[in-house]
Amino acid sequence: MVSRVIPVDVFDLVIFGGTGDLARRKILPGLYRRFLAGQMPAESRIIGAARGELSEAEYREQVRAAIAEFVPKARQDTAIEGFLSRLQYVAIDATGTNGWAQLKGLMRENVVRAFYFSVAPGLFGDIAQRLSEHGIADAWSRIVVEKPFGRDLASARALNAVLARHFNETQIYRIDHYLGKETVQNLMAVRFANILFEPLWKAEYIDHVQITVAETVGVNGRGAYYDKSGAMRDMVQNHLMQLLCLIAMEPPYHFDPDAVRDEKLKVIRALKPVPPEDIVRGQYGPGKDEPGYLVHAENPASRTESYIALKVQISNWRWQGVPFYLRTGKRLRARASEIAITFKQPPHAIFDDASGWHENVLVIRLQPNEGMNLMVMIKEPGPGGMRLMQVPLDMSFADAIEDAEDVPDAYERLIMDVIRGNQTLFMRGDEVEAAWAWTDPIIEGWEARGDRPQVYDPGSSGPEDALMLMHRDGRRWREIRE
Ligand code: NAP
Repeated sequence: MVSRVIPVDVFDLVIFGGTGDLARRKILPGLYRRFLAGQMPAESRIIGAARGELSEAEYREQVRAAIAEFVPKARQDTAIEGFLSRLQYVAIDATGTNGWAQLKGLMRENVVRAFYFSVAPGLFGDIAQRLSEHGIADAWSRIVVEKPFGRDLASARALNAVLARHFNETQIYRIDHYLGKETVQNLMAVRFANILFEPLWKAEYIDHVQITVAETVGVNGRGAYYDKSGAMRDMVQNHLMQLLCLIAMEPPYHFDPDAVRDEKLKVIRALKPVPPEDIVRGQYGPGKDEPGYLVHAENPASRTESYIALKVQISNWRWQGVPFYLRTGKRLRARASEIAITFKQPPHAIFDDASGWHENVLVIRLQPNEGMNLMVMIKEPGPGGMRLMQVPLDMSFADAIEDAEDVPDAYERLIMDVIRGNQTLFMRGDEVEAAWAWTDPIIEGWEARGDRPQVYDPGSSGPEDALMLMHRDGRRWREIRE
């Protein structure tokens, strides 16, 4: 199977923060790959915008260097000149007057205009306001807003209100790159395009769900920033919440942006408050050769968590009594993200206890090696009676696609969705606010109690108490491994 490329309309994409880390590592390399795939119509242009006074030639050289660094060598062919020729640059100050008239002069009529806000969140409102005041945003325009979208409900509401002053909700693309991952979308395909799973997708048949996003890296380099956020704000409120929604939502009436987002919103609103005993927070301690979180965070008194595990319950008919265990953390044993849905035992056991029964588990791996595995029981081959063994039905994505390198990464896919005007994989304003409305009391709770995170060893699976969170329910976390 080869992935199909459907060209998009001609566009002008302005990247505010076009010289920043995200633009260099993800956005520009992603656009280059889409260019190589033939998805970018010839007249499309990319305009970098930042305060630095760069000539067009200097900017192109910066982008060439970014592509050399972040695109696999095999993809760096001579086409790069063609790609670079699409690039322009404007020196602009998001908080001042410099550069806006020039940007307006560059805009063309009757092509899609997309404005990617790849800058610090404090500048989102300034840019939206100036785009509108300078008449740069028109009916063709759309804006892409990076995370974090607020740090609590009040700030998210304020940001939504500022953006709404200048743009309609249908023009605002709040990005969560987890939703652009192939497997995450596959989760929807598996659930809603097959009859197999949906009848079993409920409390009657599902024992519990585990969602794990584990990183091996610490917060080095961004410690001071991260310390104001923590794992709950940085990962759970957005990425893990989105994954939970896709597992738990009802089938939408159609694969349509608002139909999908309406169903996700209902899940978020149905989340129960989480009591303190169902929350475990951790901070990585020092390792053999590396200092611990407190040094990285440059704050010896920090109570910010670099790890969190939660037992989450959804109060609706489908999920009554089914715990969703979420965990995410830094400096853990392996870099691995997965969702595991564990089914219940068959109602009656016809095989002996000794036959080695295991639960059916559907594992959706997000990284590394995106793919799905369904763990099923079969008879152990050979004579000697009926012994059972667990084997994976492997739906590894790389195996199904001839050239997995051609599969767009999350950012590429999402940027192309912006150009197409498809908001399905972007968060709507009310979704983000509902997520904060659930998150805020949890954070306020531990702040009011003065809870300290438990220290865990770097390279481990996280704090001891997180193991207990599941042990006391008679369950176990899956091993964190690549
Ligand atoms: P960064 O490396 O600090 O880059 C910031 C960019 O904004 C630079 O191009 C900078 O260039 C420009 N800029 C700063 N002040 C400006 C102003 N007043 N007017 C116009 N441009 C200005 O930040 P980043 O890591 O790329 O992050 C960008 C956004 O993406 C942030 O919201 C971040 O939370 C989000 N994000 C980043 C990552 C990541 O992996 N980096 C991941 C997820 C989300 P000048 O200084 O020359 O103006």
